[in-house]
Amino acid sequence: MATQISHIIYAKKYFDSLELANFDDLGVKKKKIIPVEKINKDEFILGCIFPDIRHIDENIKRKDTHLKFAPLNLNFSGLTSFEAGWKFHLYCDMRREEILNKYNFYSFKNDTKFYIQAAKLLEDEIIYDEYNNWEKIRNYFNNPPFIETDINVDSETFKLWYAMVARYIEKKPDHKAIRIFAIKILKNPENVDEIIKSIEELHKNEKVVEILKKVKDEII
Ligand SMILES: [Zn+2]
Repeated sequence: MATQISHIIYAKKYFDSLELANFDDLGVKKKKIIPVEKINKDEFILGCIFPDIRHIDENIKRKDTHLKFAPLNLNFSGLTSFEAGWKFHLYCDMRREEILNKYNFYSFKNDTKFYIQAAKLLEDEIIYDEYNNWEKIRNYFNNPPFIETDINVDSETFKLWYAMVARYIEKKPDHKAIRIFAIKILKNPENVDEIIKSIEELHKNEKVVEILKKVKDEII
């Protein structure tokens, strides 16, 4: 998985590509995407952030939120906007790994202890400015409509998850914000200092930063 800021930016890239596709009659891409006017963008983004709610409720397993909607593609026919966003999250998780592997991202792992987690959080930090209307999403997440799913998520957990993300996205994440967020979502919160150390280490690696930026450029 990527973390939440990256997921929102991927969604924004997707919306941008839909708007372009609307003006492009020749695009093959057009065939696999649903018309932009049919998507409720807010609910799509809500769905796009939903799968990682598992981090705050141990009763929700990864497979409950992450093994769905096969085959993973950008065909959203028959889905609600929320489900489409949910499927989009899983699609991006898959694409992100493909892109990272293509650039041999994991070959830089060396002895950075929390490479994988640190890379996700660093990605959020370095691409944050690709989107500039965080306040709108923050307000929406602070008062989200409750969406029923086939997973047993109670409305309090649902609300709490979006409130946490709302706080995390309110500004470009610094170490303090990362700490607050990471402590709540990590299986082993005691690792948070080491993870932040790993983020600092990775940030100095130009190659790593360059590859992480490529993910959002290539994901759609
Ligand atoms: Zn995920």
